[in-house]
This record gives sequence, C-alpha cells and structure tokens, in this order.
Amino acid sequence: MTSTVPNTPSHPGSTAGPADPVGGVSGAPARRRAEQLTHRVAAGMDAAPVTMSAPFTGQPITPLPQAADAEVRQVFTRAREVQPSWAEWPARERQRVLLRLADLVLAHQDEVLDLVQVEAGKARIDAFDEVSATALVASYYGKHSARLLAPRRAAGALPLLTKASEVRHPKGVVGVVSPWNYPLALTAMDVLPALAAGNAIVQKPDNQTALSALWLHELAEQAGLPADVWQIVLGRGSAIGDAIVEESDYVCFTGSTPTGKRLAGQIAERLTGYSLELGGKNPMVVLPDADVRKAAAGAVTACFSSAGQLCVSVERIYVHESIHDEFVRALAERTGGLTLGAGLDYHAGMGSLTSQDQLTTVAAHVDDARAAGATVVTGGAPRPDLGPLFYEPTVLTGVTEQAKLFREETFGPVVAVYSYSDVDEAVARANDTEFGLNASVWTRDARRGEEVARRIKAGTVNVNEGYAATFGTVGVPMGGMKESGVGRRNSAEGLLKYTEAQAVAVQRGLRLRPFRGMPPRLWAKVMSAGIAALRRLPRR
Ligand code: NAP
Repeated sequence: MTSTVPNTPSHPGSTAGPADPVGGVSGAPARRRAEQLTHRVAAGMDAAPVTMSAPFTGQPITPLPQAADAEVRQVFTRAREVQPSWAEWPARERQRVLLRLADLVLAHQDEVLDLVQVEAGKARIDAFDEVSATALVASYYGKHSARLLAPRRAAGALPLLTKASEVRHPKGVVGVVSPWNYPLALTAMDVLPALAAGNAIVQKPDNQTALSALWLHELAEQAGLPADVWQIVLGRGSAIGDAIVEESDYVCFTGSTPTGKRLAGQIAERLTGYSLELGGKNPMVVLPDADVRKAAAGAVTACFSSAGQLCVSVERIYVHESIHDEFVRALAERTGGLTLGAGLDYHAGMGSLTSQDQLTTVAAHVDDARAAGATVVTGGAPRPDLGPLFYEPTVLTGVTEQAKLFREETFGPVVAVYSYSDVDEAVARANDTEFGLNASVWTRDARRGEEVARRIKAGTVNVNEGYAATFGTVGVPMGGMKESGVGRRNSAEGLLKYTEAQAVAVQRGLRLRPFRGMPPRLWAKVMSAGIAALRRLPRR
C-alpha cells in the first residue's frame, strides 16, 4: 500500500531575503558573495568554468573556475614551498587557529547554513549537523593535537642505557578529495587534523558543493591560517584526479567504493599512504525488549537525515518478530509525519535529493524492489510539486533478495524493514554485506546492546542512536571495515595518519653487541637472562 506523505511544503522563495537570490533560492547569500567565495579557488585559468544547479529549484548557482592538470601540479609546488614554515609553528600555535575557527563557525553559522542548503538541498536541521560537527572537530583537535603529536618516550632495549622515543613528522602535502553530501563537515573532519599535524593541503571538493568548502577556507584564514597552507582546486576527478594522486604525499579520499578502489590502485604504484572513507549498507537491529516508539523515532533520523544521503545512514532494519508489526506501524506513522520543504529555515524535517543522478537511482531502486515483491508501506514517489529533486521518505517491507537494494547502497531516503526470530540470526544478517561502515542497536538493556554492538562488523556502532552518538564523539575513530574503507578519521588515529612515525634511540655506555672481548656465547647467555628478567616486569 502506498500512502502519500502529508507535509506542509515551504516552497522555494517563500522566505524573505535579498533581491538577488542564489540558485533561485531567496534568503541565500547574495550572488556577489557567492562569486567572492569563488575567488578563493587556487587555480582555474586553463579550463572553462562550470555552473551547478541548486537542488531546491534547478536554478544556476554561480560559475566555478575549473583547474587543468598542469595548474594543479603548480598548486602542489606552492604547497610544498609553504608547508615547512607551517610545520615549524609550535603545535600549540596551530591548535589556537583551530580553536578560533570553532568560534567563528558557530558565530557565522547562518551564512553557511544557507550555503549548504542551497548547494546540497538538505533541510536546515541537517545542515546544522554539519555546523556542529565542524565546530566539534575544530575544538577537539584545537585542544588535543599538540598532546597527541608530542614525542612519546618508550622503554629502550637496554634499561637505563637505551633512551628511545617516537617522534611524529607531518607527511608533507596531503591531497583531500571530498564528496557533495556533507560538504562542510567532511571538509572539516579531513582537512583540520591534517593541518593540525603540520601538513599543507590541496583539496578537491565536489563542484556541486564547492562554496561550502570555500566558506570554511575563508574562515580558517580569518582564524590565522597562513595563505596557501590550504588550497582548494576544482575540477572533475577525470580531469585532475591523476595530478592529485601523483603529487600528494598522502591522499584522504571520501566517496564511493568503486572510486576508492580505483584510486587505491593508483596510489599503491607510488607507495604513499591513503585513507578511504567509502560506502555503506548500514543495518539497525531492534532487540525484542526495545522501546518501540523510541526505536521508530530514532530510525526516522537514522534513515532520512539529509534525505538518506549520508554515508552512515540506515538502509536495513531487522526487528524482532514479536514487535515487528508494531514497529512498522510506528515507523510509517512518524515517516508520514515528516515535513518536506525547501525553505531556508528550520521548518522542514527533510529536504531534497542533491542531483538528478541521485533521484534516478532512488526511484529505480524503489521501482525495482516493488517489481521484485516488496510492499511500499509509506512514500515511494517523487514530489516534483516541492522541487525538481524531492522524493518521499520511503519504508519498504517484504524486500526480496532479488531486489537491487537488498544489497546495494541506495544513498537515499529508502529503508527496508525485515523481521527476525533470534538475535544470532539478526547479527548474522546485519553482517551479511560487503560493507561495514555503521550500525545501530536498540534495546532497553544498555549492556546487552553493547554486547550485540561488538558482534557487528562495522567501524561505528551506536546503541539507542542511529549514527549521531559516534559521529558526534570526535574522540573515537570513525571509518569503515571491509569495503567501507581503509583507515579512520577523528580521534588520535584521524590525526596520526597524517604523520610519519620516526623512532629515535640514543645508546649510552654498552653497545648491543659483546663488549671487551666477551665470548659471543657468554654474551648470548647474559642477554637471554636479561630478557627473561625483563619479561617478568609488568610494564616492559
Ligand atoms: P564518487 O563518485 O566516488 O565521488 C566522490 C568524489 O570523488 C567526487 O568529488 C568526485 O568528483 C571525486 N572523484 C571521482 N573520481 C575521481 C578520481 N579519479 N580522482 C579524484 N577524484 C575523483 O562518490 P559520490 O557518489 O559523489 O559520493 C557518494 C558516495 O560516497 C556514497 O557511496 C557514500 O556512501 C560515500 N561517502 C562515504 C563517506 C564516509 O565517510 N565513509 C562519507 C560521505 C560519502 P567528480 O564527480 O567531479 O569526478
């Protein structure tokens, strides 16, 4: 059964704003401001500019300079010139830049909320998630990076005689490739720790959402970041991807699994490091004791934030058979109550898809699932009356293995609900995927929830939350197992990946070889006794 989503659309242009709206969306920063941001692009004289469309209206945003391969290589040359002096700044001074940036982002959030909404087409509450993630990550590395980067003493080979330490050096110039779905947050999560570690950055944001990244770039320089330490270039991956991969000392890529695999192959040729944050098919497991209403409310956020165009959003829900029907009713009711709209205000609960490609994939996945036997409980249709790329939040049951979305990532506002009879089966089905990015477990028993969480093969698992508990906790790592990625962002790992570890050991007195004519056999005996004694010490 298909039911229409009752919503009160806030039509594009309904909010009062400047006379010269951006992308046909009133309330957005004026066109001159958008153009001003494009002047921050580091290269773009050699290729024709491109103009993207605002998802809410289909109207053009602003022409974006595009770089050619040779220009990108020049940008890397400039980055290499400025990086050493940035690395010489004391880590505490670099931290201060990030702390000032956190304050600036919070103070000027209204402008970037407009920008993110205009470029990505998401609801303002989802754009605010990006503001908060950006401020949190800037604060975390603003407070902790100097400590995490400080040289670390280690027990030396010979007690008292070997003084050993681990020192961290920046990689050099880091290439960051960012997708369009979380343009502000993902820029911050990937660029800021690399800067904190003393690297220079060349970033390629997606054309669709370049202004949001450029806005953060402007604020970072206002916060004290020296010119050219972070440079932004624009262009299709097919045009400038090779230059980025070939010139970077480390590559941080966020995007789809097929592109990530291709880049990993190229990077391997150069034996440089990389991290890949890739796709997911994230499961939620609702245990028999869960509070059904809370779990259903959590699922709405987990599945439909940014219209499901969130790498960690939930696309599969496994519910115990004893509460399955009640859960589906509660989920359908809450999903049907979501307000869809395009206003630059907090009225809407869900916005639009970001591109025609996204709309085509979402509609194709739902139609294909239907044809393969699924039932559309709510949603299941585009909403051109609201804007060219709106699609209803959609709940499916009875999805069969033949349906594409049974295994493939939809990356849209579509979730399939399945019933299970025992928890081992639910865990096995949650793990039955090539992905391993995020998962969610719902229960009244937090300890039981943690036990089940540890059995799910995913880089982040949230108990009684969809994704926000791990996403918002910058002190724990975030990233994918299996085909969802390599490496982690956030936490110490998200900083130290941008460094080269170096061991420095100073040997005093005895060398680590037989000394003063001591027979080698005796030396081996003495050493063996020493190692055996050390082995009994608890902290060695
Ligand atoms: P995509 O097609 O892989 O593109 C991602 C970015 O990579 C775009 O900016 C794209 O630019 C660029 N790119 C493509 N080929 C390139 C190349 N050869 N060299 C350098 N850059 C290249 O992914 P998408 O469809 O835009 O993004 C959605 C996917 O990203 C989903 O699978 C989602 O799950 C995943 N994602 C993962 C995370 C995470 O943290 N794990 C976060 C967000 C999104 P052009 O398109 O202009 O070429």
